[in-house]
Formats: sequence, C-alpha cells, structure tokens
Amino acid sequence: MSTANYVLTRRKMKSIRLRVVPPAGEIKVSAPPGVPKHFIDQFVQEKSDWIERQRSQIKLMDPPLEIDAKACKERLEQRVPELLEYWQARLGVKCTGWRTRKMKSRWGSCNINTRRINLNLVLGALDDLLLEYVVVHELVHLHERYHNKRFYAWLEQMLPDWREREAGLRAVPLY
Ligand SMILES: [Zn+2]
Repeated sequence: MSTANYVLTRRKMKSIRLRVVPPAGEIKVSAPPGVPKHFIDQFVQEKSDWIERQRSQIKLMDPPLEIDAKACKERLEQRVPELLEYWQARLGVKCTGWRTRKMKSRWGSCNINTRRINLNLVLGALDDLLLEYVVVHELVHLHERYHNKRFYAWLEQMLPDWREREAGLRAVPLY
C-alpha cells in the first residue's frame, strides 16, 4: 500500500493527525478544514518512514480472534454469575448487574454510579484466568474509582498474579 492513498477527514482541530489502522495498515488523516490538500499530501509523504514502521508493527500482531459471538455469550452467562458471587463476597461489594458488550478498546468497564459492569464479549473466548481478572478488576472499581495505589493494593491482595493475567490480556489483539 502506498502512502499516497489515505482517508481524509476534515475536523475542527488545531493540527493534522495521522493514524495507521490495523489490520490492513490503512492511513487515516484528520485535518482542519482550511489546510490545502497538497499540504496534507506532503505531510503524509514526510511521515512515510514512520508509517512503514507502524505497518511492520501491525504485521507482527496476531490476526484478530475469530470469535463466535453466540458461543462467547453462552460461556460468559455460564461463568460470570459464579465468579461474581465468589468475588463479590471476597471483596465485600455488590454490583447491580452485568452485561456483555462488543468493545473495541477495552476488556471491561464499571459504571460506579449505577454499579453495573460491562464485559467484552471476546472474554468468552479466552482463558478463565483472564476472564476472572477482568471481573475482579471491575469489582475493585466499586471500592476505588481510579487506577491508583489503593486500587492496585486491592488487586494485589485479591489476585497476587494479576500482572501476568493483565499481560495475557494485552497479548490478545482487540480491534
Ligand atoms: Zn480499571
């Protein structure tokens, strides 16, 4: 793919922004409305080394997981209730409910106002240890909103091997 082809979005912003997007390594550029096209062409051209580096990084990534959404959902429905029961008791917190969602950039989230937990559907295709880590992580947010010392102290106490599990999750491509 040449650097001459890119997808341009005009947006109210202060400077030009360039992204290389997996899995194909497509170039996406956002630019303020007033910047002439030839200027953007040149900008992209000047970044060609950086673009190539990004593309080789992308090639090293694993292909996206082929997931069977129905099977994932079923597996989560089977596993999550008992995980919640166990970990809510250990942590001394209670969420008001959980659901699965397709999320592109995270594994889970916790709304601490409604005390609801969202789990990425893809977790249904991963190892139980990773699913458990996300459930515990989100429940810990019911004690502590931010990823601060207090938050990690809880994690450390509850799941001493949380770092390995988090690294395991990071190794799974999510997009
Ligand atoms: Zn978190």
